[in-house]
Amino acid sequence: MNSSAISTDTPSVTGSAQVTIAPLAELISQYLAPADIRRVRNAFRFSDAAHLGQFRASGEPYITHPIAVTEICAGWRLDADALMAALLHDVMEDQGVPKQELAEHFGTDVAELVDGLSKLDRIEFATKTDQQADSFRKMLLAMARDVRVILIKLADRLHNMRTLGPVSPEKRRRVARETLEIYTPIAHRLGLNVLYRELQDRCFEAMYPNRYRVLQKAVRAARGNRREVIGNVTDAVRAALPAAGIEAEVYGREKNLAGIYRKMTLQEKSFSEVLDIYGFRVVVHTQADCYLALGALHQLYRPVPGKFKDYIAIPKINGYQSLHTTLVGPYGTPIEFQIRTRDMHHIAESGVAAHWIYKSADVSLNDLQKRTHQWLQSLLDIQRQTGDSGEFLEHVKVDLFPDAVYVFTPRGKIISLPRGATPLDFAYHIHTDVGNQASSARVNHEQVPLHTELKSGDTVEIVTSMAARPSSQWLGFVRTGRARSEIRHYLRTVQYAESVAFGERLLAHELKQLGLSLDEVNDATWEKLARASGADSRAEILADIGLGKRLAAVVARRFMPGADVVATTAAAVDEVTAVRSAPILIQGNEGQSVQLATCCSPIPGDALIACIRTGHGLVVHTADCPTALRQREREPERWIQNVAWDNNPAHHFNVRVDVVARNERGVLGRIAAEVSAADANIAHITTQDDAAATVMLHFTIQVADREHLAKVFRYLRRVPQVQRILRLRG
Ligand code: MN
Repeated sequence: MNSSAISTDTPSVTGSAQVTIAPLAELISQYLAPADIRRVRNAFRFSDAAHLGQFRASGEPYITHPIAVTEICAGWRLDADALMAALLHDVMEDQGVPKQELAEHFGTDVAELVDGLSKLDRIEFATKTDQQADSFRKMLLAMARDVRVILIKLADRLHNMRTLGPVSPEKRRRVARETLEIYTPIAHRLGLNVLYRELQDRCFEAMYPNRYRVLQKAVRAARGNRREVIGNVTDAVRAALPAAGIEAEVYGREKNLAGIYRKMTLQEKSFSEVLDIYGFRVVVHTQADCYLALGALHQLYRPVPGKFKDYIAIPKINGYQSLHTTLVGPYGTPIEFQIRTRDMHHIAESGVAAHWIYKSADVSLNDLQKRTHQWLQSLLDIQRQTGDSGEFLEHVKVDLFPDAVYVFTPRGKIISLPRGATPLDFAYHIHTDVGNQASSARVNHEQVPLHTELKSGDTVEIVTSMAARPSSQWLGFVRTGRARSEIRHYLRTVQYAESVAFGERLLAHELKQLGLSLDEVNDATWEKLARASGADSRAEILADIGLGKRLAAVVARRFMPGADVVATTAAAVDEVTAVRSAPILIQGNEGQSVQLATCCSPIPGDALIACIRTGHGLVVHTADCPTALRQREREPERWIQNVAWDNNPAHHFNVRVDVVARNERGVLGRIAAEVSAADANIAHITTQDDAAATVMLHFTIQVADREHLAKVFRYLRRVPQVQRILRLRG
C-alpha cells in the first residue's frame, strides 16, 4: 500500500489487510491537484474513523464500501468535493455525524452533497405506487439541484449490486427490483450506458439466478462456435475501411445478458434464434467518416433491410448518437454494427458524466450538459406546478422511459415527442400560448383532430384561435409531461374562478329555498363556517360547492337561524338529496364546474340528470342516457335528479345526429343546405358507406334547444333521399 499518495501516511485505522486504497489513490493522482488530493485524503481518514467497527454483510470492514464508491466516481473524473462526499456518503446516516461538523471540516459544498445523499438514503422505497412515486420525486429533485448527488448515488447502488452475494435471496430480489424501477431509468436518461447495462445484468442475475447462469453458459458456447465467423468479419472490416480511405478503430462487443434475455422474452424466441449476440463498434474521426464507413460496410456485406437507424441526424433524448446497421455476415449470421466518432463514443458510454471525464471544448459534450440541465430545470418547474407525487411521476415517466417519434415544424425543424403524442403535445412543445389556443391541426397539410396520434416524419402545423381554450378532455390524449402540466395549470386557475361563481349561484339558490338570501350572511358567519370546515376563505367554500366537494344544500342549512355551523363534506350527500326541493338550474356556460356529458350531449328541453364528480363539479346527462343509467347503478349516491335547464341557456349546443340516406350524387350537399336553412351549424361530419345503395352520415350539429333540433329534423325530412334520422345518445 505504500505506492500511493493516500496510503503512505494514511493507513486505514481498521488496520485490516482487506482494505486497500491504492487503486483510488492511483486514479486521483492522475487528475487532481496535490491540494485536492490532500482534502480527499482527509475525508478518507475521517470516514475510516467514523465507520470503525462497522462491517458489511460479507464481513469486510465497512470502509471498503465508500472507497469502492469513490473509485467509481473517480473513474468519471468527478471533482474533489464529489469524491469527498462519496467517501463520506454514509457517515451522516450510519454514524450520526451532524451536517455542521462536515461543513466545518470539509466545507459547505461537501456537507450539502452528503446531506443530499443521506436524504436519499432515508427514502423508503415501498411497493405502494404512491410511495414509490414520492421516492422517485425526491430522487429527481435531489438530482435537479446537483447532478453529482445522483452520480454518487448511482455509484453507491452499483457497488451494492456488485456485492449482493452475501445477502439473502429475498433481499437480493427486493434490491434488484428497486434498482430496476428507480435507478436504471435515471441512469438511462442521463446516458450512463456502461453503468446502465451493468445494473441491468446484475438485476437480472439477482432476480433470475438460474436463467442468468443458463444464458451465460449459452453465450459462452455460442461465442466459441462463432469465433471463426467473428474473426473473419473483424479481418474483413479492418481491411475494407482503410481501403475506402477511412481511418477507424474496430471493436467486437458482446451484448449484455439482460438485453439478450429481453429480446428472447419480447420476441418469444429461443436462444438459438437470437443470432445477433455479438456486435461491432466502429469508431472514426469525423461525422462524415461515419457515413463513409457505413457505405463501405454496406458494400462489404449485404445490409438487413429496415435495420438501419440514423441516431446521428436524430440523437436519442439522452444525447446518444451513432449509426446502427445490421449486416448479413458469413453463413448468414446477422451482425450489428454501431458507427460513431470518438466524442459520440464518450457520450454513448458515459452520458452526462462525459462532461467530467473528457473536459474538452467539444460542442456536443457541452450541449448535452446544457440540455440535461434544462431537463432537470423542467423537473423543478413541474414540481412547482403540481406538488403531488403521483402527478409528478406521471409527468416525468415519458422522459424516463423514452420511446420517441420525430416530427417537423412547417419550417423543417425536428422535434422529438414521446410515442403516442398528438398535435397538442407538439403545440405545447412550441409554446404555452400555442397549446392553450390550439383549435385544430394540419398534419402533412391535411386538417386533423387535435387527438390524432403523430407518426415519425409528420409535418405538423397548429391552427390557433383566440376563442379556443384548454378542456379537461385534452388530458385524455396528451402524452408529454409539459402539455399535461400546462393544461392542468390552466384548468386549475380558470376552474377556480368559475367554480367560485357557480358555487355562489348554487348556494344562493339553496338559501332561497330556505327563505334566506346570500346578502344576509355576514362575514362573521362566513368566518365561523370556514374555521369549522377547515377552509381558508369564503371563496374556497364557494369553489368547493362549485366543484361538488361540498354540497350547497348542506352549507345553506348552516346559515339557518339557530343552526350549528359545522363541517360540511361531500359525504353528506344523502342529506342533500333529501333537503333539495327545487332544481339546480343549468345554463351551459358554467365552464369547468358544469360539464355537458359527451355521451348524450344534452340540449335545452331535455330532461336532465347530473352526477357530482369530486373535483370536477357536475356532469350533466340526459335523463334517458344509457351511460348515466349504468353509472347510477354503481354509485347512486353521487347522482342528483333535481337538475333542469335555466330559462335562458347560454349559447348553441352540440348534438350528434345520424342520417341514413340513399347514396346519390349531391345528397350530402342537399342535407347540409337544409341544416343551414334551419339556422343550425354543422360542427363535424363523417360518412360511412354501408352499402353501395345507402350512406350513413354522422353529424355534429349545433342547435339552441330541442325545438330547434325538431325543426332541423323537419327540414331534413324534406330531402327525398333521407331514409332515417336518429339523435345519438350514449
Ligand atoms: Mn452506501
